[in-house]
Amino acid sequence: MPRFELDLNPLQHITADAIGQPGTRVFYIQGWRATDPAPVTIIIEKIQLQSLALGVDQMLAELAKQKPELTVPAVEYDPDKMRITPPVDPLFRAGEMGLGYDADRDMIVIMLREVVMENGDPEESAEVRFWCTRLQIRRLADWSKEVINRGRPLCPQCGQPMEPEGHFCPKKNGHKKQ
Ligand SMILES: [Zn+2]
Repeated sequence: MPRFELDLNPLQHITADAIGQPGTRVFYIQGWRATDPAPVTIIIEKIQLQSLALGVDQMLAELAKQKPELTVPAVEYDPDKMRITPPVDPLFRAGEMGLGYDADRDMIVIMLREVVMENGDPEESAEVRFWCTRLQIRRLADWSKEVINRGRPLCPQCGQPMEPEGHFCPKKNGHKKQ
């Protein structure tokens, strides 16, 4: 049995953010229930947030093909509302992550499972599920991309964010810039 399972359903607000210096930032995903002013916070890896944003893009594109009338365009968001809110008191660090779609309710769920510690029992890992509307998850994905890129300096040649390990600049015919 999992230590605990938590469904935020419905979700009043969901966001992701990073705290710390570029290179050592810690990423969080944070959701609020309508009934509880305290957020539920989970630590995730940057790569997980990246793949979440990508997964959401793919899922929304697929859903838009099936139900064009429900297409959600890129949305405006207020950065002040998307920033992480104290207290940052994470329940756990995410291991497995999944995305699912409930067609009956037209809701997309983000499933986050607690990372399994050494000698830990995967069966006991806690799980949190954030149930999002298309609009909420579109906003989360768009904002997450901004958060991911925020910690990186921009290339003076092409204006794209540079990775710490180097940058393949399209303005320099792909030569690696150190
Ligand atoms: Zn460049």
